[in-house]
Amino acid sequence: MQTRFDLTQADIPKTWYNLLTDFPEPLPPPLHPGTKQPIPPEALLAIFPENLVQQEMSPERWIEIPEPVRDIYALWRPTPLMRAVRFEKALQTPAHIYYKYEGVSPAGSHKVNTSVAQAYFNKQAGTKRLATETGAGQWGASLALACKLFGLECNVYMVKVSYQHKPYRRMLMHTWGATVHSSPSDQTEFGRKMLAEDPHCPGSLGIAISEAIEDTVKHPHTKYSLGSVLNHVCLHQTVIGQEAIKQMEIAGEEPDAIFGCCGGGSNFAGLAFPFMRKKIVEQKKYRFVGVEPSACPTLTKGELRYDFGDTAETTPLLMMYTLGHKFMPPSIHAGGLRYHGMSPMVSHALKLGLMEAEAYHQTKVFEAGTLFAQTEGIVPAPESAHAIAAVVDEAIKAREAGQKRVLLFNLSGHGLLDLSAYETYQTGKMSDV
Ligand SMILES: *Cc1c(COP(=O)(O)O)cnc(C)c1O
Repeated sequence: MQTRFDLTQADIPKTWYNLLTDFPEPLPPPLHPGTKQPIPPEALLAIFPENLVQQEMSPERWIEIPEPVRDIYALWRPTPLMRAVRFEKALQTPAHIYYKYEGVSPAGSHKVNTSVAQAYFNKQAGTKRLATETGAGQWGASLALACKLFGLECNVYMVKVSYQHKPYRRMLMHTWGATVHSSPSDQTEFGRKMLAEDPHCPGSLGIAISEAIEDTVKHPHTKYSLGSVLNHVCLHQTVIGQEAIKQMEIAGEEPDAIFGCCGGGSNFAGLAFPFMRKKIVEQKKYRFVGVEPSACPTLTKGELRYDFGDTAETTPLLMMYTLGHKFMPPSIHAGGLRYHGMSPMVSHALKLGLMEAEAYHQTKVFEAGTLFAQTEGIVPAPESAHAIAAVVDEAIKAREAGQKRVLLFNLSGHGLLDLSAYETYQTGKMSDV
């Protein structure tokens, strides 16, 4: 039985897909925090290069992927689409379960799809140095690799709890030549202020973003880079869904429901948006489900309103589902899903009823991730295991209803650098916050 649906290097998409052009209602624009007026594109040039600012607001549906970016994509793309037959069997479900596996990238997740593009466009624009933040380290590692490949310096602010407890991604960043600071750090005024208030501050993504932005505006030839949330990041991730559409065609099936975990929303967007285009333009009946942790329930419990992307209130105001920019998420094991906000594009899709959202507790997530590892072999990243938990429930519903369903999810990364979280689960020390 065929369970793997491969493409060749020639099938790596030649364009990214911009869902902005197909939304039935336009996305509310980012606002200047002072004037509360739509922010002029020039105002973003202090932190982003012009070519990426253009992509952020582009009116074009298909945006060409430069050849040097496609060449690097070829190191791991096209990624496999697999049918999880052993997982189906363990769940005794009539549902067919497919997954798109982004964990085959050198950094182990989907994030290099955008880091490589961002490093390329920065290089073209004359940037010499990039500053960024990272939570558990997936984004920092992805940007470190991309910067090395394009000859840029990379300066990473890593949330302190992860810096201390997740040494392997810090080592990966060092291997790829980046400089890594534990955040809050003594490198920025905001970091020093946070440390003065509380020397034991565990840090948060919001604080690290503030530090990276301050670093950017205070250093010459430096730009800022974000690994999720923004429109151009979701855009770069659409290679995932475009490949998956072709691969599902080879498999000869149409998915009923499409799942992705949601931190800032980019891997979900990457798989979902090209299918969402078919839902809007061709009236396809796909269901889309964004899955988040119950401990950081942005889509299911947050408010849709304008909010800052960071703690220090330095970013433009974005219209998004948010738990408030001062929200300190409890330290759950899926570090990549601990963000107070959500991509404005994913938020807009939820508001327009194009998708749904669900939240899961971490013990349920690790139970699903463990079953997947024991049947399909791949140990999923704790973030990705959220999507798996939702797929398990859907597969059980299909069993109870005796319905053949076709489920597709994004396996956004592997969990080989998160095994300590699996051990916490196995030894019964994990609790639901
Ligand atoms: C960072 C990360 C996520 C969460 O980020 P999104 O922008 O929501 O995709 C999910 N899965 C993995 C493996 C990650 O590294």
